[in-house]
Amino acid sequence: MLLENKQVAIVGGGMGGLILARLLQLQNINVKVYERDLNAEVRVQGSPLDLHEDSGLIAMEKANLLNEFYKNIRPNASKARIVNQNFELKFDEHTITKNSSKEISNHNQDSLQDISKPRPEIDRSELRAVLLHSLLPETMVWDSQFLSMEKENNGWRLFFNNGKSAYADLVIGADGANSKIRPYISTQKPIYSGITMIEGTIYNAKENAPNLFEFSKGGKVLALGNEQTIMYGTKGDGSLMFLLSSKIPESWIAENDLDFKDNQKIFDWFKDVYSDWSSEWHEFFTSEELHFILRPQYHFPQNQSWETQESVTIIGDAAHRMPPFAGKGANLAMFDAFELSECLTNNQFSDLKTAISYFEKRMLKRAAEALENTLKNGEQLHAENALEKLLSIFSKTF
Ligand SMILES: Cc1cc2nc3c(=O)[nH]c(=O)nc-3n(C[C@H](O)[C@H](O)[C@H](O)COP(=O)(O)OP(=O)(O)OC[C@H]3O[C@@H](n4cnc5c(N)ncnc54)[C@H](O)[C@@H]3O)c2cc1C
Repeated sequence: MLLENKQVAIVGGGMGGLILARLLQLQNINVKVYERDLNAEVRVQGSPLDLHEDSGLIAMEKANLLNEFYKNIRPNASKARIVNQNFELKFDEHTITKNSSKEISNHNQDSLQDISKPRPEIDRSELRAVLLHSLLPETMVWDSQFLSMEKENNGWRLFFNNGKSAYADLVIGADGANSKIRPYISTQKPIYSGITMIEGTIYNAKENAPNLFEFSKGGKVLALGNEQTIMYGTKGDGSLMFLLSSKIPESWIAENDLDFKDNQKIFDWFKDVYSDWSSEWHEFFTSEELHFILRPQYHFPQNQSWETQESVTIIGDAAHRMPPFAGKGANLAMFDAFELSECLTNNQFSDLKTAISYFEKRMLKRAAEALENTLKNGEQLHAENALEKLLSIFSKTF
C-alpha cells in the first residue's frame, strides 16, 4: 500500500479536507487535518449546501455517513420561490408537486436546468459537524494556519502561524479558494468572472427581518431583474443569508473601498445599485445583527494543467475555484476527496506520483466541465431576460 506507515497532512478542514480525512482513516492511513479556525465551535459561514447524486452523495456513501447526513437535512430548504424585482411571486415550489415524467435529462443543452433540480440540503455547520464527529480523536489540529513548507527527506516540513511545524510524507491542500498550498503546484492565477456578490447574514431573522423570513417558508427565494440577482434563504440556526449579485468591473472593488462593517454604507450602495428594486428588499438592512462578506467571483483557467508533484496535491476550490452558479463547488471538493482516497489506497498504482497524476487529470477534466456550466449559468442569471428563461425551465421541470 502506497501510504503504509506514512504520514498524510491535509491542510484545510472544509468539506473536501474533512471527508478526505474520513475516507483515508477508513483505510487505516495516518492523517492529520491542519485547520486555521481556532476550534470546532467557530461559526461556519456560507450558504447551505445541496448534495448531488453524482458527486457529494457518492462521497458520503463511501464514507458510511449517508444516515447521519439524512438525519440532518432540512427538507424544505431546497424548495424555491421565484420573484421579480418588485417582489411579485412568479413560481412557488412549495405549492406544486413534481411531475417526474417531465424530468429533463440532457444537462448540457441548458445548464440552468441543473439549478432547478431538487436535492437534499443541509446547513454547512451540520455537515461539518457530521464529518468532524466521524474522525478519530486527535485528527484535527485547530488554530494551525499554514504559512509555508520546505522539503525534508521525501516529504515536507510544514510551518504554521502558531509557531509550530509538522512533518508529512504527503501534503494535500484542501485550503479553499485562496490556497497557500496551490503555489507549490501551479502558478496559474485566477480570472475575474465579471460578477461580484455581497453576502449578508441576518442573525435571529424571525425578529430582525420578519417579512422576508416568513416569505421564504424555510426555503430559498430567488429574484431576478435588471441583470442582477438576489438570492436568500434561512438556516437551521435562525439566521437568514442573502446574496446580492451583479456585474461589476474588477476595478470597482479597489476603487470603491467600501467598508463592509458599515451597514449604512452598504445599504446606501444597495439603494444606488439596486435602484430599480422595490422597497421590500430594504428589510435586509434594517437590523443591527447583520454581517457582510464581499465575494468577487474568480475562477482558475478552464484549460489549466500542471506537472504532477511527488508528494503534494490539491483538491476542491484550491484546485478549481469557480463561481457558485451551478451549486457544484462543495460537491466537486467531496468527489475529489473520494477519488483521491481511492487512487491512494486501491493498490492499482506503483508509486504516489502515478496515483496523484491519474487523480489530477480526472479532477481537472471534471472541473473544466463544471466551470463551463457555472459560467454559462452566471451569464444567464445576469442576462436581460433571465427571469423569463428561468421560469420556463422551472415550468418544464415541474
Ligand atoms: C455564496 C456561495 C454559495 C455556494 N453554494 C454552493 C452550493 O449550493 N453547492 C455547492 O456544492 N457549492 C457551493 N458553493 C461552493 C462551495 O462553498 C465551495 O466550493 C466549497 O466550500 C469548497 O470546499 P473546499 O473544502 O475545497 O474549501 P473550503 O470549504 O473553502 O474549506 C477550506 C478550509 O481551509 C481552511 N483554510 C484556509 N486557508 C488555510 C490555511 N492557510 N491553513 C489552514 N487552513 C486553511 C478554511 O478555514 C476552511 O475550513 C458556494 C460558494 C459560495 C461562495
